[in-house]
Amino acid sequence: MDKEMQPLLSVRNLAKRFAVKKDFWGRAKEYNYALNGVSFDIFPGETLGLVGESGCGKTTAGRTIMGLYRPTAGQVFLHGKELDVANGPDKRIQMIFQDPYACLNPRMTVGEIIAEPMEINGVYKEAGAKKQRVYDLLDMVGLSKEQANRFPHEFSGGQRQRIGIARALAVNPDVIICDEPISALDVSIQAQVVNLMSRLQKELGLTYLFIAHDLAMVKYISHRVAVMYKGSIMELAKAEDLYNNPMHPYTKTLLAAIPVPDPDVRADIALIKGEVSQNVGTGCPFAGRCPSASDRCWAEKPKTKVINGHIIACHLYV
Ligand code: SF4
Repeated sequence: MDKEMQPLLSVRNLAKRFAVKKDFWGRAKEYNYALNGVSFDIFPGETLGLVGESGCGKTTAGRTIMGLYRPTAGQVFLHGKELDVANGPDKRIQMIFQDPYACLNPRMTVGEIIAEPMEINGVYKEAGAKKQRVYDLLDMVGLSKEQANRFPHEFSGGQRQRIGIARALAVNPDVIICDEPISALDVSIQAQVVNLMSRLQKELGLTYLFIAHDLAMVKYISHRVAVMYKGSIMELAKAEDLYNNPMHPYTKTLLAAIPVPDPDVRADIALIKGEVSQNVGTGCPFAGRCPSASDRCWAEKPKTKVINGHIIACHLYV
């Protein structure tokens, strides 16, 4: 990224907690921090990959930025201006969801589904313009205008995700949050959808936050990648640097766990040793599983620093 370029989207110290225990009166007694002070920037035309194991907070991050969750603390800036995310979604940020079928109303035609965000946000008000916009969007995602009158159940999983992409594009958003957009699809279809998203990015200058647990696919599509664990960013670097020279112990573990073609040497993320620590807020969130953990790691949460172009939170680096 050009160092002079201003970020399109900036997230600062974003936190989101959920009540995990309530008292007799329904008041929260204990909280779990799904996000614990997350900060990053996304630049115009960039794809920032956000990866981590299931439950690490990456989906909560996307939904909080989108305004679907009210943040507990922190700020989101778009074009340098703070967004009122507590007030709900802003049309300039749209989302592509993991399960396209679950988020497409089965009683609406595809044309109605794609036109709905235009109606909600009051754009393309004139019927003819709206219809043409729907046809153009269908064409952009590789579907035909004849398919506008069909219903979601008449499409394959890959086609439904194309409809989800067309819907997200309908109001010309500045940023698209892609929440595991290919993980529900057959492997043979995943590459087609990723290629479509890459092509649309080049043609329309789109900016993506691409949330995923599949590190191989994230490397393929992302310019930079942020690695998340227990609600905190552990490492953020250019995709190539991160994969060729991982610095954080957690990133190294995740990369070592990427499946390889030989089943004898295949490893899974589940093979990471140790328990997921619940000490978020006191020490390093990864201390319970880290082979390099010291007493300091248990007592003090590492601050973020920049080392060799990597943004990293680990006491090993000073
Ligand atoms: Fe491991 Fe300590 Fe670094 Fe956390 S701060 S990743 S526990 S070495």
